[in-house]
Amino acid sequence: MLQGLYVDYSEYMTDKNRDRTSLNRITAPHHFEQFVKKNHRIFVNRNLRMNSIRWVGFDLDHTLALYNRNFIEALAFDLAREVLVEQKGYPASLLDILYDPAFGIRGLVVDKKLGNILKMDKFHYVATAFHGMRPLSKENRKELYTSGALKLSSDRFWSSDTLFGLPEIALYASVVDQLELEGWPEGLTFRQLFTDIRYSVDLVHKDGTLKEIVMPRMSECFIRDPKLPFTLEKFRREGVKLFLLTNSDYKYSDTVLSWVLNDDSLNRRWWEYFDLIVVDAGKPGFFDESHNWAPYEDERHNVPCFSGGNFSMLQSQIGARGDEVLYIGDHIFGDILRSKKTSGWRTMMVVEELEYEILAIMENEQDHKRLDKIQIKNADLQETLRECKHHRDKLSEKKISNYKSLTPDQLDEIDAQLEVFADQEREIEGKLTRKLLTIKEVEETIDARFNPYWGPLCKVDSELSRFGDQLGDFACLYTSRVSNYLNYPPGKFFQSRTEFLPHEL
Ligand SMILES: [Mg+2]
Repeated sequence: MLQGLYVDYSEYMTDKNRDRTSLNRITAPHHFEQFVKKNHRIFVNRNLRMNSIRWVGFDLDHTLALYNRNFIEALAFDLAREVLVEQKGYPASLLDILYDPAFGIRGLVVDKKLGNILKMDKFHYVATAFHGMRPLSKENRKELYTSGALKLSSDRFWSSDTLFGLPEIALYASVVDQLELEGWPEGLTFRQLFTDIRYSVDLVHKDGTLKEIVMPRMSECFIRDPKLPFTLEKFRREGVKLFLLTNSDYKYSDTVLSWVLNDDSLNRRWWEYFDLIVVDAGKPGFFDESHNWAPYEDERHNVPCFSGGNFSMLQSQIGARGDEVLYIGDHIFGDILRSKKTSGWRTMMVVEELEYEILAIMENEQDHKRLDKIQIKNADLQETLRECKHHRDKLSEKKISNYKSLTPDQLDEIDAQLEVFADQEREIEGKLTRKLLTIKEVEETIDARFNPYWGPLCKVDSELSRFGDQLGDFACLYTSRVSNYLNYPPGKFFQSRTEFLPHEL
């Protein structure tokens, strides 16, 4: 049953007379999750019983279809850069800017007024800020964002909530840098620059330029997850029906899913996994607007297929209550928040960054333990130093206040004691310096395992980042990829941990 650290249920999938009880008995030891690699687990914010789920819906991009991000993001960056130069009249020197895939994580916010990019904590206080590709000093940052929590609903800010938004952030920062270096164009504002970049990125997505390049180059653009077909099959064998709900059009979805799911050796086609297909969905509007859908015919299959539509139409088509539907997507607002709020659907968010983020956290575990020990010793040293200074001050005060009544020998004795304390202080200061240098070194090692510009995705020091907070608040479950579901027994009860307030710990 155990293959390495993976629990792979695919071996049971050939049994057409599925017996849920026997499968549970075989595969559901209470502590089985310890055999699943941490970066392949499903994490639980809100209890969810898979036995009560009748339909599971999937987003396509960055959910069923995992992009080769370096390739696709650099492509979007390059194409948008060309639009800026050719259509918006920006200097041709921008064509030399290269895409830095590290500059950009989800949850960042663009300050269109000042040309800055911000990472915030869960209270919307700015924790890290860049102007162009240059970090703002702590003093500068505090001076610019003195008012505390930012009102992100203001038109001044734009938030990058999807992976598709990352090239936009990097392009904005790079262009700010480049234009400031070579001379800022007269009359151009940071806001206008952002509007032009938004236009350019939107255009290459909407006019088909990007798709035309992507569609003939599936193997370069997508990472094929060999476990995905088994995962969809596992859902079906658990008696769950599946639907696709994507903003992409049918032709694109067909091309991508053919590459991701088709299996020529078994003569298996992607649509055989689904009971309903909805394309051109227009999420998040899909969940609270009233667009009609149009049937879409594909003569190769008879799976019900629609273009457009809205949540109510989908709900009556599948005939399930909101809480009997689990929707899996990667967009915190478009897929997760809106579907949960409007429809009552249960949600699972795909956060592919977790795959390496969790590895970094695991690698950092030993360093954190080492850091904790050094911090305790450091605190002890500081306390001893404080005591030495206190005693020395007392002695000095005694000498000054009582010099008339003290003999020369007594005064010499006090000086000798002062000298001993001074020696101790010098020795402790030396130790403290060495400890601080070690702390700095360990902290740099820890930081280096995360994003070099922004640090961890979900944290700001010991607080949650804005993105981490949203992930905890909005998604019932979250995981790094859909196929992680394969690691869990049928009908799994995903149970959240008991929550504690600080006074309960
Ligand atoms: Mg998506």
